[in-house]
Amino acid sequence: MGGMLENEDTKRLGKAGIEEAPVRGWDLHCHTRFSDGTKTPEEFIAEARELGLHGVAITDHDTWNGWDRAVQAARQYGMPLVRGTEITAHVDHTSVHMLAYLYNPDDKGLARMFADTRAARLARVQEMVKRISQDYPQITWEAVRAQVREGTQTTVGRPHIADALVAAGICSSRSQAFATIIATTSKYYIHVPSPTPVQVVQTVKRAGGAVVLAHAGDCSRNKYLLSDDRIIELIDAGLDGIEIWHRGNDPDQRVRLAEFVQRYGLFATGGSDWHGAGKPNLLGENLTPDATVKLLCEGRFLSIA
Ligand code: AMP
Ligand code: ZN
Ligand code: FE
Ligand code: FE
Repeated sequence: MGGMLENEDTKRLGKAGIEEAPVRGWDLHCHTRFSDGTKTPEEFIAEARELGLHGVAITDHDTWNGWDRAVQAARQYGMPLVRGTEITAHVDHTSVHMLAYLYNPDDKGLARMFADTRAARLARVQEMVKRISQDYPQITWEAVRAQVREGTQTTVGRPHIADALVAAGICSSRSQAFATIIATTSKYYIHVPSPTPVQVVQTVKRAGGAVVLAHAGDCSRNKYLLSDDRIIELIDAGLDGIEIWHRGNDPDQRVRLAEFVQRYGLFATGGSDWHGAGKPNLLGENLTPDATVKLLCEGRFLSIA
């Protein structure tokens, strides 16, 4: 387990002052059409370049399917890129998301984890569609599949149901669908069977990657946030960092999470959770300092592309 901050750990933190959100650096949390974002990897890289970001990470849900196209575009535009994935986990009735970076995509354990979660997501979306179609007959699986942009390469989720609800004129926007018909509190909702966060950390570490706890201070995502004990369990398992700068994290939760970062010598990261037109979040609205990215990515299975 990481001890109290020592000199070595102070270095690991780089210049990441927790109090102030970085104004320059990398956006380490971005989605494309390979999950529930609305833009292609090429559009993503072009937009990041336009904004003058120092670098970006592609972090689609439970897949690396967008990596090749993102790498090609990144080389073409001269945009530094970290290959990553936002992994779905679940413990104590709490939905937990973890950002994994620069791991070995040929790792068998991770491949199995992604295949299982993607299959569970598909079955769950189909089951939710069945329930919804009893009250809204237009919302068929065909109508939802029409919203999936990269075929079987896409990780499906509630946003694709939301897009079908919008296309059918039942909801006015994704966000309105999330607030009503597909909300976690709705009678149509089903959760995604997924691994525990500890299993995710162990699997990513075995695959040579870095792993960061995403938006753990967002009270609107969960009735109960991850407890201190659960976070310490993750740190014991090898957690590398905590996403502090994310629009969903409440101010007092940022302070709470930053205490773990300081006490255990973790990395503090920031990211927009950009989904293109699918969410109000703007690309580059939250960033990670260059020095943190460099240290976080050092010695991983893959390097920055
Ligand atoms: P799921 O993982 O299938 O339960 O769907 C939840 C995901 O939808 C979250 O990871 C969000 O990133 C994503 N999402 C996309 N657009 C929205 C939105 N407008 N409101 C809430 N969540 C959204
Ligand atoms: Zn998403
Ligand atoms: Fe997330
Ligand atoms: Fe996300």
